[in-house]
Amino acid sequence: SLKGKTALVTGSTSGIGLGIAKSLAAAGANIVFNGFGDLTEIHALCTSVEQEFGIKTAYHGADMSKPEQIAAMMEEAIRQFDGIDILVNNAGIQHVADIENFPTEKWDAIIAINLSSAFHTTRLALPGMKAKNWGRIINLASVHGLVASAQKSAYVAAKHGLIGFTKTTALETAQTGVTCNAICPGWVLTPLVQKQVDARAERDGVSNDVAKKLLLAEKQPSGEFVTPEQLGALAVFFCSDAGQQVRGVAWNMDGGWVAQ
Ligand code: NAD
Repeated sequence: SLKGKTALVTGSTSGIGLGIAKSLAAAGANIVFNGFGDLTEIHALCTSVEQEFGIKTAYHGADMSKPEQIAAMMEEAIRQFDGIDILVNNAGIQHVADIENFPTEKWDAIIAINLSSAFHTTRLALPGMKAKNWGRIINLASVHGLVASAQKSAYVAAKHGLIGFTKTTALETAQTGVTCNAICPGWVLTPLVQKQVDARAERDGVSNDVAKKLLLAEKQPSGEFVTPEQLGALAVFFCSDAGQQVRGVAWNMDGGWVAQ
């Protein structure tokens, strides 16, 4: 059980981050939510997760592209909960375009949010984890941390970088009770992917359902989306005692994507 532990999940107001936050809450952890969205809805989410799982929650709206806002979030969360035991670096964005047409500000934003933010949270979480000699850092990479797709240059570069950062973090904590690992999902039907489904439906003049099947057929042999709940279960495993010697892995859950 993760009772008495506190997990901070970046980008947990939607999609995979929300699924992982709920799975960790179900295992007993207090949750610090982060991410964008309507404040009334976010506070309702916090209340419902507290009531459903009998844990404490907090919310910080730090923009993960802003190192000083990340530092403020980490300091506040560490003070409020007497340390962050589980850090899930999940916030991420996507932009799809050929390199020569890739907006330079999108490149910078993707590197900042999908890669650099994990450094800014990790560096502030590690001292407390090392002092307690227990901690779990889970980085949401992607199959795009292992293989590439055309038109996703910034995303692929950031996710490959995040897996490299995961390995260095694992080595620097190897002789402690702190572990660091990456999760590499294939297609998960979240708002981030729905945008790509919509673009595909428009480009090919097909329905939403057909566009989903076409996207899956290109890359994901299972023909099924991975779910946030399945990814949440993997995160809970990394946090368990059985996960103690899992260090520096990039674990794909991808319906067979990178087996090809
Ligand atoms: P999503 O769009 O549903 O959720 C993204 C979350 O990040 C939201 O809570 C959003 O508010 C937050 N966020 C975005 N920019 C932020 C910022 N600047 N500061 C703070 N929070 C910010 O996306 P998702 O599909 O759940 O993606 C979550 C993670 O999983 C990302 O890192 C993504 O790259 C990765 N991933 C997703 C898929 C997929 O198929 N959906 C596959 C592999 C990896």
